[in-house]
Amino acid sequence: MASGSHYRQGTRNERGDHESDQTRHRARGDIARAAFLLQGNFATPAAAEQVPGGEPLSKTYRVTRAKDVEFQKIAPFKVFDNLYYVGPGYVSVWLLTTPQGDILFDSAQEPYVDHVIANIRKVGVDLKDIKYILLSHGHLDHFGGAARIQELSGARVGALEEDWKMIEQVGSKPAQDGSPPPRVPKRDMVFKEGDTLVLGDQTLKFHQHPGHTPGVLSTEGITVYDGGKPYKAFVWEDRATAAESPRQNKPWGARRASPKSRVSR
Ligand SMILES: [Zn+2]
Repeated sequence: MASGSHYRQGTRNERGDHESDQTRHRARGDIARAAFLLQGNFATPAAAEQVPGGEPLSKTYRVTRAKDVEFQKIAPFKVFDNLYYVGPGYVSVWLLTTPQGDILFDSAQEPYVDHVIANIRKVGVDLKDIKYILLSHGHLDHFGGAARIQELSGARVGALEEDWKMIEQVGSKPAQDGSPPPRVPKRDMVFKEGDTLVLGDQTLKFHQHPGHTPGVLSTEGITVYDGGKPYKAFVWEDRATAAESPRQNKPWGARRASPKSRVSR
């Protein structure tokens, strides 16, 4: 299994780290590796930083201003030549581009779907070029925009069987406040451990990493480029509650500090 020896967030500090990593990997003469998370609070440039004397911005996005819609609408940013962050602040959405079409990892949820769509356009991508929407797991904050983005793009939507069941359940029940069920994507591509997907210069391989949900799709085999230099990338869903995985119940900072060990196990 590929591991993430390098963790990218697109911050200025991370850029600095990245340069040194890049030098090291170049010296080794191999393709460097990268990893990115399907999790919002690590994905925003600002969220990676600690405000002196204040709370971490990760907490601001996830807790303190979690319902502040305008605050959550962060601008998209390029992380690699072919990888963009296009989500709101609290939950991540990644866009991987290839010469033959693009792949969206997760979709956020309402009321942020218009923002995600606008961000995709802002980075110069035509929605019609999105060929696949890959859903990391069956929670609404990750799949809630998939149906609309599929409609606009014509993309195929893929998830694991266990997560499709969750998506279908969410789409079949009224919300707690009695409002109609949210719009959910229809079961389309059903992935299982070891499945592969080829698009352009990408050959993705899927894994099932249950914990956060019974499914949880991780994607290996991604190649990202920085100034043309290739990096192997791996995308995974990182979040687990204490009940799901007691050993992972650490503060965000501690978890963030050891991304390498998390993906190497
Ligand atoms: Zn979740």
